[in-house]
Amino acid sequence: MKNKMGQTIPAAVLEDNNPIKLLKDINDLTVEDVVVIYAYAEAIVETVREPIVILNEKLRIKTANKAFFDMFKVEKKETYDKSIFKLGNGQWDIPSLKRLLLKVLPENSVFNDFEVTHNFEDIGKRTMLLNARRIILEGHKTELILLAIEDATDKKEVEKKKDDFIEIASHELKTPLTSIKLIIDILQAQYQKTKEKKSIYLLGRLDKQVDRVNQLMGLFHNAYSAQTGKLSLQKEDFFIEDIIEEIVETFKYASAERTINSDNETKTKIYADKERVGQVITNLLTNAIKYSPHDKPINVKSKKTGVNIVISVQDFGIGIAKDQQKKIFERFYRTNKKPSKQNRGLGLGLYIADEIVKAHEGKFWIESKIRNGSTFFFSLPIHLEHVTKASD
Ligand code: ADP
Repeated sequence: MKNKMGQTIPAAVLEDNNPIKLLKDINDLTVEDVVVIYAYAEAIVETVREPIVILNEKLRIKTANKAFFDMFKVEKKETYDKSIFKLGNGQWDIPSLKRLLLKVLPENSVFNDFEVTHNFEDIGKRTMLLNARRIILEGHKTELILLAIEDATDKKEVEKKKDDFIEIASHELKTPLTSIKLIIDILQAQYQKTKEKKSIYLLGRLDKQVDRVNQLMGLFHNAYSAQTGKLSLQKEDFFIEDIIEEIVETFKYASAERTINSDNETKTKIYADKERVGQVITNLLTNAIKYSPHDKPINVKSKKTGVNIVISVQDFGIGIAKDQQKKIFERFYRTNKKPSKQNRGLGLGLYIADEIVKAHEGKFWIESKIRNGSTFFFSLPIHLEHVTKASD
């Protein structure tokens, strides 16, 4: 686009959030304005703490900011026009990074949080998170890639310590909790004999609380296993519909006031970890109950689609905003930071469920509308040998 004087206006200037565009009509821009914008952009890039590099289409470094030179302890003259893969003794020469960078320009793709752990010559072992975007300069043939680098070493270290702590704590608590359960059993048997109703009642409540602690420890342990890639699967052949029915029946019994419908199209044998798949369905049903009103039904369905079985849990509850639908699968993410007492949770259930489904080479998706309800879907592959005889 050109202004009244026939000067080309850079694409970036045309963006809605550009400070100058906000102040005046884009057609009135002068070269001086563009110089101001340039200085403004440069000041930001130089001030940010994250190293930023601009690459040309040959993946050679065109320019970099101060943070880049400070972090990697390199000089401008040995950096500019050098291929990123040759920089610092080829430390960025990582095949998966190369593949991603080569895709950014032709496919106009973006990548976020690509993790690189490397023993850098001058700064030692660091974990970096890389984000890349394509930049188009209007009126110029060249396209550029903006690569932002975040040093996540300390963050990773803290996360690892936290995960290790949770793992140790949940392991250490297991033994005393088992003893407590045992003692409760013994006491309950004694009070049954003497018919001490109040003590029996109190022991029942104590037992429930111990179960809750056990459940939380299990959640922590599962989240830790998923996070550290140690989620083990004990696969076996079973009919998925049997598990769905079993779980639905348990829920109907435990939440008698709720209407839970189940509709299983076929009988499909799958090869999967029965317990873990059950855990996913249980989590979805627990959430459907938690996040929808008592007078609204919940529908559980399973359907065979080609080589997959798709299981869905539908509720007519609070729904999930579009921008949060991906985030709810993150560890500890909850849409409501101040939930009511019955809606309390840790934000771990869906993270674990997603990891379980991924470990089975399946996937999760959601259809949801605020105040109208949500349907959670997940697919699981039907073991090849079961595809044809899936309804045997
Ligand atoms: P928890 O329910 O223990 O917080 P989850 O990982 O199971 O943890 O869920 C994460 C978040 O996703 C919940 O806190 C809630 O905000 C949202 N969510 C999950 N299921 C539903 C649902 N069926 N309807 C509305 N929001 C939901």
